[in-house]
Amino acid sequence: MPGDEKMVGTLMADLFPLSRSITGDGTRATLRRIGAEIPLDVYEVPSGAPVLDWTVPDEWNLHRAVLRDPAGEMVVDTADNNLHVVNYSEPVRGEFDLAELSLRLYSLPDRPTLIPYRTSYYHRTWGFCLSDERRAVLGRGRYQVDIDVSLGPGALTYGELLVPGRVPDEVLVSTHVCHPNMANDNLTGIAAAVTLACWALRDMRRLTYRFLFVPATIGALAWLAAHKEALPPIAHGLVLTGLGDTGPLVYKRSRRGDAPVDQAMTYLVRGRGTTVDWYPYGYDERQYCSPGFDLPVGRLTRAVHGTYPEYHTSGDNLSFVRPEQVVAAADVVLELFDILETGLVPRNLSPYGEPQLGRRDLYRRMGGTANLKSAEMAYLWVLSLADGGHDLMEIAGRAGLPLPTIVMAAQALRAVGLLDG
Ligand code: ZN
Repeated sequence: MPGDEKMVGTLMADLFPLSRSITGDGTRATLRRIGAEIPLDVYEVPSGAPVLDWTVPDEWNLHRAVLRDPAGEMVVDTADNNLHVVNYSEPVRGEFDLAELSLRLYSLPDRPTLIPYRTSYYHRTWGFCLSDERRAVLGRGRYQVDIDVSLGPGALTYGELLVPGRVPDEVLVSTHVCHPNMANDNLTGIAAAVTLACWALRDMRRLTYRFLFVPATIGALAWLAAHKEALPPIAHGLVLTGLGDTGPLVYKRSRRGDAPVDQAMTYLVRGRGTTVDWYPYGYDERQYCSPGFDLPVGRLTRAVHGTYPEYHTSGDNLSFVRPEQVVAAADVVLELFDILETGLVPRNLSPYGEPQLGRRDLYRRMGGTANLKSAEMAYLWVLSLADGGHDLMEIAGRAGLPLPTIVMAAQALRAVGLLDG
């Protein structure tokens, strides 16, 4: 919808400049901005808290980091781009020879105009990131370093929205909120999740929806640690990120490989992209799918991390992403939700003879469908194959009807008590 595109574009533009990290005020500000769109519960986990095999690190806040050349001219300034400082750099003030400074400068000789994104969350160090062409013209001499940051006990912050449905079975949508000054990774995931949360909030749904906005890895671990003893009944899940480029969709299966979300998404991305099998690298699906939790959580992206030149650089900016691509990806997830709401494998609750459809006002329920004949055929196919042995995609295939028509028919049959799923 055009309204969604506008919201997505505005949200990403507002979030882009914030100085995010896995902790700190930039991440809090990010959650506050998301909270202006959807009612978000915000949690703080103190530094030092054990979360599974990890420990929440000290909180990092960037005030400003600058590097000046021997003549006092600015080389880099985080006021221009906060990628310029290694994320989680410790505070430093002093003069350094170019030779010793060089060990702490990061650039990309193969992409000389781009600033790389570097982090060091769990190992104390410091450094600057700059374009290789800027680096190439640095002359000998003593450089002035001023990394004005705070790094000390504080908290990790994450956001959560739980939208209760009629049944406790949950759909989990998770996205990370820790990348500074980049758009595809990860503002598009945030914007898509917000779009989906707005959908979940619009009406009472059958399933319960849980949206997590967490710092990558440590945030997902913190949430899992908090719920380890009484894990909610997560029946389906998706990690979202990298949805705004012009590439086709890529669905990565959960570790289980054959969960309902895997079956449905494999079907839905056909013709729009590809499905890849599970591998133990990537985003927070690594945590949700770890064998102790083994949640049925897949991942939806477009361009896959590490495979495009703008990835984790200043090239991943607002002009690299398109709101309509984010909305198109969210629309595919809404098709998934429709399938999950209906029940992937429906069961006819009146299987002895054909139920009498006329008296149930079913044709009006398919009101939007111009073709009454295909509506009738959809009802008959669903009732005929809903024996617990066929999923909605198989039924659509056998019927030779579009999946949305079959989903709509199944939802109408469920509404009048003829179908369970
Ligand atoms: Zn990333």
